[in-house]
Formats: sequence, C-alpha cells, structure tokens
Amino acid sequence: MRTMPLLPLLLDTPVAEWNLPPDQPWREKQIRAWILQRFVSSYDEMTDLSAPQRSSLASRFRLRAAEPARIQGSEDTTRKFLWKLGDSSFVESVLIPANLGKSGNRSTRLTLCVSSQVGCAYGCRFCASGLDGWRRNLTAAEIVGQVLEAARIAGRRPDNVVFMGMGEPLANLPNLLSAIDLLISPAGIGMGARHVTISTSGLAPQIEELAHHPLQFRLALSLHAASDEIRDKIMPVNRRYPLDQLLAACDTFIQARKKMIFFEYILLAGINDTPEQARLLAQHAKRLHAKVNLIPYNKVEGLPYERPEEDAIHLFCRTLLHAGVRATVRREKGNDIDAACGQLRLREEKTAPPAIRIES
Ligand code: SAH
Ligand code: SF4
Repeated sequence: MRTMPLLPLLLDTPVAEWNLPPDQPWREKQIRAWILQRFVSSYDEMTDLSAPQRSSLASRFRLRAAEPARIQGSEDTTRKFLWKLGDSSFVESVLIPANLGKSGNRSTRLTLCVSSQVGCAYGCRFCASGLDGWRRNLTAAEIVGQVLEAARIAGRRPDNVVFMGMGEPLANLPNLLSAIDLLISPAGIGMGARHVTISTSGLAPQIEELAHHPLQFRLALSLHAASDEIRDKIMPVNRRYPLDQLLAACDTFIQARKKMIFFEYILLAGINDTPEQARLLAQHAKRLHAKVNLIPYNKVEGLPYERPEEDAIHLFCRTLLHAGVRATVRREKGNDIDAACGQLRLREEKTAPPAIRIES
C-alpha cells in the first residue's frame, strides 16, 4: 500500500500542494506553528483552521512521520521511545533529563538522542545498531519527527538534540543537514545551533566537507581506540579511514570552524582501557584540543564485551587528567531500559509479528 505523503515541515510536500486558499497566505505560518512549536498530533487540534480546511488536509496528508510504538521509563526518569515509521520500520530515541542547580530548583535540561538511519552499515563490533545491518536512511521529516513526538510527550521542546541514536549521521548527510536546519532555525523549531551535536564513527571525507558548511552544530567523534591496531579490531570503518587521515580531517574541521570537538571513548574491559591507550588518547586529544567523554560500556546481549571495573575506569580518566586533557566519565542513564543505541529496536524486531516486519 502506498503511504500518504507527509505534510509536515514543507519538506516532503511543497506548500503549493497544500491546497490552501490563495487569499489566506498566513495559513502556512499557522500550520507550521501548530506542528513545529506546539507539537500537535492531529489536524483537529489546529483550531484556527476551518473544519473543511482541516479535513481536506487530513484526507491527503499524514501529519506524523513517527508514532510511538513503545515508551519505556526508567527509575532515573530517562525515557526511551521506540518509533514506528510510515513503512513500519522502527527507530529509537532516548530522552535524558539533567538537573541543573540545587534540588528544588526546577531547571531541568532535556537532551534527546535521535536516530538518523534504520540500522547501520558500519558494524562496530560492540554496537547493537549495526547487528542487523543497514536498511535505509531516515528522511529529514522522520529525523525531526522524533523531536516533535518526544516534545509533545514531554510537554516541551528538548534543550539539546544529539545524533547518537541508531545509524551513522554522516552517511545520510543531505537529510541530516535539512533536519538540523529545521531544528535550529527560528522559522523551524528554533533550538539554537550550539544545542545540536552530530556524533560520527569517523567518516573523514564528510568531516572535511562539513568544515566549510554554514550550518552551526557541534561535532563528536566516536574514537573508542587510540591506535589503528585496536581501532581496526572494533571499528571496521577505521580500515577505510585510519587514524592519521581521520585526525587530519578533524584538524581541518577545527581550524575552519574555530570550534572544539569532543572525543567519545567507550571503555571496553581488556580491549581499549590500558594505560598505553590512555597515553595515546591524551596525545590525540591535546593535539586537537578535544574534550574526552569516557563512556563505561553498556552491555549488549549476545556480544562478548564488558565494562571495566570502577577502579580501571577511574585510573584511565586520571591518566588523561594528569596529561592536561579535559575528560569526564559519562554515566549512561537508563541502563535498565536498554538505553544504548539499537537495543530496544533489536528486541522489538525480534519479537515483532512478521506482518509488520520489512524485509530488506
Ligand atoms: N554512528 C554514530 C552515532 C550513533 S552511535 C557514531 O558511531 O558515533 C552513538 C554513540 O553510542 C557512539 O559513540 C557509539 O559508539 C556509542 N555506543 C554504541 N553502543 C554502545 C554501548 N553498548 N554502550 C555505550 N555506548 C555505545
Ligand atoms: Fe553504527 Fe555508530 Fe553503532 Fe558504529 S557505533 S555500528 S557507526 S551506530
């Protein structure tokens, strides 16, 4: 069955095809505001449109690019969403609250971690997202749709969006950039550029391409090993773009944009947590003035990796700090809800009835 085209965001359906009355040019702005600022889930909520206008739109265009298939809450109030897309594929987002200031002060920052693809082709050995391979890119509307749905459920717009869910964002560059434009532009969701972070496993040519792109965003590099020998073993992408080439691309990015980048470094017991790796990592970080986020590994069922003991995690972090590198250990919230990317979707797809599975 052909799915109805999507109305939202002017991305999938040009406004000329909305059939709006030509003498009411303000209608477009009204509709955009309902979708992008007020996060409505049905045309009926657009109360300043006439009933015939609403039903005309509803009969021709889907309003939502993603719909919640499952929502899991954890004890630390992290929430994980499994979204069902128009073709019945599934992707995930995780909403992570962080309290600012003293308790009693209601200022909580919401960070939403979104997906950029269904599955992932890059097959990092420790990651659940790549286990089933790559199925397709998300459209810009599906990327932004995750933010709109999460905002509606949370009752407000997230403060930060990070592309750390399923998929490799730089392998879906045109849709990623359209989505970011809509997230940060005042005529879109209006988040502000410093509040969007792209995470990449290290696609060097795309990092260089982005160095000169006018859109503002932050960049995080999933380094996870500080030598080619170890990175080759856990991240196949390293054989295509080895560390020299990758770090040179990051250098170009930093020089052109005058912005710092982050290194993400998952700690895997016995693999990349040695003092030697810490020393090498410190060298790379100092050369690029990068800040390091250490992430104790989140166990994935069926994969042979473990997180190191607490002592080993602290020793690794101290080695970086002593070398003069800014480093923090990021405590992953939501351990109890499979918050590492790809895990919930994998579980859903394994138990999903065949009727709603898409075969690639
Ligand atoms: N493909 C991109 C973005 C998605 S992965 C990338 O690789 O950067 C987002 C982050 O989650 C990456 O740093 C990834 O390595 C990390 N990650 C994947 N599986 C994980 C797990 N089981 N525990 C902790 N972090 C994980
Ligand atoms: Fe893909 Fe990132 Fe997972 Fe690697 S870590 S398989 S690039 S989603």
